Amino acid sequence: MDSAADPIAVLKSRFGYDRFWPLQEEIIDNVLARRDGLALMPTGGGKSLCYQLPALIFEGVTLVVSPLIALMKDQVDALNANGIPARFINSSLSGAEIDRVQREVRAGRSKLLYVAPERLPAPAFRRFLRDLELSLIAIDEAHCISEWGHEFRPDYRNLLDLRHDFPSTPVIALTATATEQVRDDIIGQLRLGGSRVFQSSFNRSNLSYSVRPKADSWKELIALLERHRDRSAIIYCFSRQETEDLAHQLYTQGFDARPYHAGLDAETRRKAQDDFIRDRVPIIVAPIAFGMGIDKPDVRLVVHNSLPKSVEGYYQETGRAGRDGLPSECVLFFTLADRRKQVYFIAQIEGERERHNARRKLDKMVEYAQLPTCRRKFLLGYFGERWPGGNCGACDICLDLDAQFDATEIAQKTLSAVVRTGERFGANYVIDVLVGSRDKRVLALGHDQLSVYGIVKDFSKRQMKEIVGQIQAQGLLTRSEGDYPTLSLSPEGRAFLRERRRLTLVRPAEETRAAGPRRSPDSMEYDAGLFEELRALRRRLAEERNVPPYVVFGDVSLRHMAATYPRSKEEFSRITGVGEVKLDEYGPEFAEAIREYVEANGIEISADRWVAGPRPRETTRSGGERPDAGPLSVTHQTTRDMLARGLSVVDIARERGLAWSTVIGHIERIVAKGEDVEVGHLLPEPERLREIEKAFGACGSALLAPVREYLGDGFDYEELKLARIHLHQQGRLSDP
Ligand code: ADP
Ligand code: ZN
Repeated sequence: MDSAADPIAVLKSRFGYDRFWPLQEEIIDNVLARRDGLALMPTGGGKSLCYQLPALIFEGVTLVVSPLIALMKDQVDALNANGIPARFINSSLSGAEIDRVQREVRAGRSKLLYVAPERLPAPAFRRFLRDLELSLIAIDEAHCISEWGHEFRPDYRNLLDLRHDFPSTPVIALTATATEQVRDDIIGQLRLGGSRVFQSSFNRSNLSYSVRPKADSWKELIALLERHRDRSAIIYCFSRQETEDLAHQLYTQGFDARPYHAGLDAETRRKAQDDFIRDRVPIIVAPIAFGMGIDKPDVRLVVHNSLPKSVEGYYQETGRAGRDGLPSECVLFFTLADRRKQVYFIAQIEGERERHNARRKLDKMVEYAQLPTCRRKFLLGYFGERWPGGNCGACDICLDLDAQFDATEIAQKTLSAVVRTGERFGANYVIDVLVGSRDKRVLALGHDQLSVYGIVKDFSKRQMKEIVGQIQAQGLLTRSEGDYPTLSLSPEGRAFLRERRRLTLVRPAEETRAAGPRRSPDSMEYDAGLFEELRALRRRLAEERNVPPYVVFGDVSLRHMAATYPRSKEEFSRITGVGEVKLDEYGPEFAEAIREYVEANGIEISADRWVAGPRPRETTRSGGERPDAGPLSVTHQTTRDMLARGLSVVDIARERGLAWSTVIGHIERIVAKGEDVEVGHLLPEPERLREIEKAFGACGSALLAPVREYLGDGFDYEELKLARIHLHQQGRLSDP
């Protein structure tokens, strides 16, 4: 073993990554100590690295057993693109080609050799292996050895012979299967009894889950695909026929969708898969429970147009989304009619036990579809994992809760403004008064003298329009007919003010900036225009080299580039996924494209543009201290950094096109994560601060409403929130 090779150095120089994800380092250490192990990690958890990196450090060859013949070439291409010598042997190669590969491997010209399990018993192949120095045996998709799994491969039983032939070669088995039965079976079948088992959380934190009624789902499906236009999506249907029909319907609507199922001939299937992986066709339509062996890292949307048969199946199929860790969406269209359809088929299953089993699994899936509580929590619970957090922030149920806010105050302000301006104006005018617009009409009518003038600080004009619309929809405001509709209070509106009722509304969307770096829907800030340019460049280079685009660079790398505009070699080497070989191979062309883009668009690049690449994922299995799930998002990091530079809330709000309250929300979130943040320069005068502290003391709690009541109108919520953060930081206030 090359003792000079430090895993973390190899991680950057060969793979271009800065840090290990949870468990990778432990697994790699275990492998390097030449001990057997089993790694259980979800799809996208970074399993491959756990044997690819040790393969580079060991002297001899690492044998990788994988059942997915269709993927071997891509995996080997991806390694070669990083300058890592790897080869594969499977039935797609001719005899002569196999001979050539074997000669190369024997000559030590390859660090990794991928093979399918059916090759293992062939006498010639066994002789070939016996002459090699095998430093490690990696068993990918290890669940295939279990009859309990849905992908049992009898050939995997050949692995035991392999272990006998190489008794001192360490084995690392890897799988994304989350059921206990299968895990135990793998350990038993592979004789891994005494070895270490590494198990990470099966939460896919970058996936969002939602369920929608299937009635009228067509419009919604189109809207979804429109939103993900030109991104990869997979749609699951019930049968081959539905698969064909839906692909065709989508095609007539201008979406390039390709059917993909077992009834197609091999060539058509290969072509569909190839076109999908190479970004030539964005949408694949397949039947549920069809093991399709498509491994594309940047699938952004998985739609189930039909009910899956089991939660395992659903978890696995949605698992194909977002393997690269970027935010991706999983939507299920549900109707009880689909359940009945499945029940009908289940009734025809022969064995009573099997029938019973299938029914139980289906019931669980239906339960998921009708859940009133967090879907992520249910999914994890199904696999025996406890979800520690509360609101997951990325399922339809949690987002609905998240989206509500106490609109009592803003509704009071709005209704008062309607009354004070005489119930003679439309929404736009009332909003102008509320946000303190210098509009000529407002000034001419003297409405800038009203007490309601400029009292709304935490919502933009566009957000106010949404709020006024909602207040009206709640029946508190009446809108007159005619060309110039005006607003007046309804009887309910008057009662609302008089009786000091409360009101809850849906939070209006945050603002986005029009030009330059902007906030993407997934909260990593990057220049979307540049991203598209780089994507096109990636595709061209990939076509030239006859490899899938992600082999050149993944979306994560492109986004990192589009967020930081690297133009020199040194800057480019800091991009995640850029190792030494890719730096030389692709760096110049990408840097040139970025230079051109920056110039053509007159973009000024600030010194503080560097944002970190993707952060390490969540740590091991649930439990432990996790006050607030997930790492700090880039938008929060940006706020934190701007605060550290001494910018005020007003400055940050203006510069980023956000409402004040949003910025303050960021600060509260950063603090909730246990991170330090500088708020000294945001605080009210010492005199006021003392008063506020007294009020918190008098009210005996950290809740804002009573303190505000206590202090009266002279204090606003923003000020109280900032003071509360400060007092908490100083340890002068207990619960935040
Ligand atoms: P799995 O086999 O567990 O589904 P992969 O090995 O395909 O996952 O890894 C998923 C993605 O994450 C790949 O694009 C891989 O290059 C990337 N990746 C793995 N480890 C790291 C890391 N430490 N830092 C950044 N990216 C990583
Ligand atoms: Zn949730």
